[in-house]
Amino acid sequence: MKVLKFGGTSVGSAERIKNVANIVTSKGKNIVVLSAMAGTTNTLVEIADYLYKKNADGAKETINLLEKKYFQTIDELYSKESSKEEATREIKACFNYIRSFTKDIFTLFEEKEILAQGEIMSTIMMNLYLNEQGINSVLIPALEYMKTDKNGEPETQFIKQRLINLLDKHPEADIYITQGYICRNAYGEIDNLQRGGSDYSASLVGAAIGAEEIEIWTDIDGMHNNDPRFVEGTKPVEKLNFEEAAELAYFGAKILHPTCIQPAKLNNIPVRLLSTLEPTAKGTLIGNESVNYAIKAIAAKDNITSIKIKSGRMLLAYGFLRKVFEIFESHKTPIDMVVTSEVGVSVTIDSEKNLDNILDDLRKFGTVTVDRDMVIICVVGNLEWQNCGYEAMAMEALKNIPVRMISYGGSNYNISFLIRKEDKVKALNQLSQVLFK
Ligand code: ADP
Ligand code: ASP
Ligand code: MG
Repeated sequence: MKVLKFGGTSVGSAERIKNVANIVTSKGKNIVVLSAMAGTTNTLVEIADYLYKKNADGAKETINLLEKKYFQTIDELYSKESSKEEATREIKACFNYIRSFTKDIFTLFEEKEILAQGEIMSTIMMNLYLNEQGINSVLIPALEYMKTDKNGEPETQFIKQRLINLLDKHPEADIYITQGYICRNAYGEIDNLQRGGSDYSASLVGAAIGAEEIEIWTDIDGMHNNDPRFVEGTKPVEKLNFEEAAELAYFGAKILHPTCIQPAKLNNIPVRLLSTLEPTAKGTLIGNESVNYAIKAIAAKDNITSIKIKSGRMLLAYGFLRKVFEIFESHKTPIDMVVTSEVGVSVTIDSEKNLDNILDDLRKFGTVTVDRDMVIICVVGNLEWQNCGYEAMAMEALKNIPVRMISYGGSNYNISFLIRKEDKVKALNQLSQVLFK
């Protein structure tokens, strides 16, 4: 069995839902993981925001507008009156549930229950549509098997046992449908795997059933060699290994959520990125195999803060770096890039949540400077140090752009540059021109 995951745009309208139904029915008995319809999760976040601000009218108005969109989709999607009625009844129940939160106190728990409705609704709609087409699709509720522990990590054994149990109850099914993104936490409360987390769901489901392949279907034909939102003429990369894909996803290639790689890699399950707009396109295959051409793709990660700690007296004393890293650890803030010199060390972080406390602690060890609004540009490929010239080419491409940090050699797969936000688009374009000419 395979896992087929479809993102928000792929199920974003009646027409797109029909298109996905065509794809999944042509592929046999698989597990289909769905995101919420495009824009829904953002709107649910907006509704929650109104409720946090005790603006029940704002919330109600937004709920009504979203509900109207769903009713319109139902009208366009189903041909039988009985399916329209059933879909309307079930979707209305979801909206009434969301409405019920406009009367009471509102906390993070209620927000998560609201956010879960997006994936619950898209799977209801798809399941009913497939049933209307005479396909015996069966809905497998993610809230009955997808679970995280006290650290927010997936409970892989629990997921596996529960999921297999649920699937075994429906041997007659033609297709299984389940929700991405949503789960229960260690306390049994409704929770989620973070924004964009449906890719992670797909990978966890794939690992749980030992899937033959995990297919991530989206609105573009694979991982492109640069960010298509900022660079024209980008091309899909045919093959990536798990490490390269992980670097690209982590450093900003939005097509894939970075958490998706690990479960697939650990269980050696290939991940294929495919386009619902061009279902016959080859896409990108991610696996264990290394492909021997050098630079494969470029990505950019925004909202980076760099911190430099200068301390002539202490840097080379052993234990200094440990002390610096411990400060970040004690404030639960991961570090992305690190560069060191004789007199200082610079690191980058992607969250300023604990920055003030971190800076207070770092100042005990040296002079600290901070640069905000920076971007990490990550050049990914088979960059073993013996392959000469690639780092020089990347630096040549950026010769007219101020570079704050460079990191190379941490893995065989990336060179990272830290630059200013305003130089990002220029840097991405110049790198494409030099590296993929
Ligand atoms: P989904 O809703 O299906 O999960 P996403 O919006 O999360 O889809 O991801 C697909 C989008 O990722 C594409 O439309 C594209 O704009 C963006 N993207 C960013 N970098 C890349 C890249 N290197 N290759 C392909 N797509 C990318
Ligand atoms: N619907 C969720 C989001 O928009 C999860 C996902 O699409 O992956 O973040
Ligand atoms: Mg996505």
